[in-house]
Amino acid sequence: MQMVLPARPRRVCVITSNRSDWSKLRPVVVKLLQDPLVEVHVVAVGSHVLQEFGRTVTEVRNYFPRLIEVSTTIAGDTVSAMVDSVGFGIIKISAALQQIKPDCCVIHGDRFEAFSAAIAANLLNVAVAHIEGGELSGTVDGYLRHAVTKLSHIHLACSADAAHRIRAMGERSDYIHTTGCPSYERLIAMESAAWDQHDMRERFPMLSKDEGFILALMHPCVTDEKRTVDDYDCLLQALFTLKKRTVYLYPNVDPGNKRMIQVLHKYQKACKDWQNWLEVVTHVAPEQFALLMRDANVMVGNSSAGIRETCVFGTPTLNIGWRQMGRLQPKNVTTFEEPETQAVIEWIMKNMESRFPPSYEFGNGESSVLIAETISKVDLAECKTKKFSEFQYLVPQPPLPKVRTSPVKSTTRMLRVLGVITARGGSKAIPGKNIIDLGGKPLIHYTVEAALSSELLDRCILSTDCPNIARVAREDGCEVPFIRPAELAQDASSHMDCIRHAINMMAEQENYEADYVMILQPTSPFRTGKDIDNAIGMIIESSCDAVVSVTKSSASLTKTFYVDEDSGEMNPYALSVPAQEYIRRQDTPSVYAENGAIFVQRVSSILNPCWARCGSLFSEDTKAYIMPNDRSLDIDEPYDLELARLLIAHRREQANVEILETPTTALKLKP
Ligand code: UDP
Repeated sequence: MQMVLPARPRRVCVITSNRSDWSKLRPVVVKLLQDPLVEVHVVAVGSHVLQEFGRTVTEVRNYFPRLIEVSTTIAGDTVSAMVDSVGFGIIKISAALQQIKPDCCVIHGDRFEAFSAAIAANLLNVAVAHIEGGELSGTVDGYLRHAVTKLSHIHLACSADAAHRIRAMGERSDYIHTTGCPSYERLIAMESAAWDQHDMRERFPMLSKDEGFILALMHPCVTDEKRTVDDYDCLLQALFTLKKRTVYLYPNVDPGNKRMIQVLHKYQKACKDWQNWLEVVTHVAPEQFALLMRDANVMVGNSSAGIRETCVFGTPTLNIGWRQMGRLQPKNVTTFEEPETQAVIEWIMKNMESRFPPSYEFGNGESSVLIAETISKVDLAECKTKKFSEFQYLVPQPPLPKVRTSPVKSTTRMLRVLGVITARGGSKAIPGKNIIDLGGKPLIHYTVEAALSSELLDRCILSTDCPNIARVAREDGCEVPFIRPAELAQDASSHMDCIRHAINMMAEQENYEADYVMILQPTSPFRTGKDIDNAIGMIIESSCDAVVSVTKSSASLTKTFYVDEDSGEMNPYALSVPAQEYIRRQDTPSVYAENGAIFVQRVSSILNPCWARCGSLFSEDTKAYIMPNDRSLDIDEPYDLELARLLIAHRREQANVEILETPTTALKLKP
């Protein structure tokens, strides 16, 4: 088929307001410039064009000489000046957009300039693509970020967690893309770059690797100027006490910035030899900043670079105050929400010689390709039709018609719970266990039946490596969208890897993104559809990360022992209780054992790299769904199977007796 080219290239306008968002927009602009189907425009606003903030527009011009420069900042270091700048920004950005007439505007982050741009673009009927929506910022920035999300049509989220929040705000799933953060390309490229590759020696002649240095960057926190200045004072006091080699970057343009600079000048005035150890700079290019983060012994302050970027290099980072409150915090970051000078000094001293293993919390270095491709290809007319989702779970719904297959039950459903039946072929204790006969049906039949009778599972799929199991489950009405690779079906394979594989396959093959995923093992034949719905209700209502089914254990912890099978030697499991001390069974606390019937987890936590590393099905925020013993049998050994067969035979017998004994009036109700 011949490709039909559009009548004219798509006109895309990237709006950048400061060095921070340019460092993320730059790789996207570079990629867009390589696309023949896109005509790129760049508008530089905010602190880019201000002399006192280093006129970083010059750097933008190196990449895009034809840029339009727009002054949007109303002078004044106050919040009211910031409000005026929002209004002024709408007027000025609107004028630039009317000149360019773009089809799509690309903005980034949570700054008020992005907010002005989003309003102007919307009212001019221009589609808005927003990078880095759905994240949490500790201050009013967070409200602006979420407001920009609501004013945007294409969402380019940096993490699965952020994408989840955007969905929770009612945005259309088909326009939410988890792309990772575009700054990771630069960071990953700098991992092995030589120090002098980006003029570092000329720019920082006093820095030497042997002596080591501190990197400090602290911005105003606009909601509480006094506290910002107090925290800042505390940091400066620590730095001026230690007098270690320090590269110090000026705070950004936000209100409070002038007061902060005054405090810095006060310390400089009082210290005669500050020039010997302190290097104050307004701005450094993104590559240089990455090298500073890489080679600094520690980073201190409250910048987002500390929270999101230093982890790539494993640099110990001290995050001061509450500007980054609520954000994902990699292992190399320590936060002092209410800092004290002495504690800051001690932290710096302790961490100057330490290092963390590198970690990549926000991407794999391919984000700008994904972002540019999406912007180039997305249907711009269709994405502007916002379709809002309803919280169907929280209000009683008329029963859905029962079907034997499990198609998507509703496209307007806000939360999607994907059931994954996990069944591998090579079971050892009972060969062919998952499809072995139990009361005239294959074992897996009972789990498929329970899943299909659930009101709240959106879809139920099977993940198996075995064509036989796939065939049997399919006959029962279960979806089998893929065959699990053999390496994920070994004795040592983890459930977590298998679930992650299922989530990724559904996203890749069907563009299907679930909010929760429920593991259903075929070895629990007595769990019901109601159990499934109860556990889903529990995770949604309590907003916890995971719900796991348990049952009361008949064993008492105080009467449980480790036994050496060879020697017969026994030791109490609960070591705090002496073995010989007699405690009545009724007096010991109840203990509950996981019964294997239900594990339901938030997808964003499964995909969260911090959790992924530990590979566990549990988190600190896991709740127990208690099931009675008679629905908790987990078939592991031949004895369990025998018991299950007896139970099924017994229950059928009981049911027959009940039907025979039911009064005839009740029987009349049945046709
Ligand atoms: N950055 C830069 N040069 C600098 C300071 C920061 O290129 O002199 C980059 C940094 O790597 C990060 C972004 O700008 O990608 C955000 O900067 P910062 O953390 O200062 O801003 P925040 O997001 O906290 O407002």
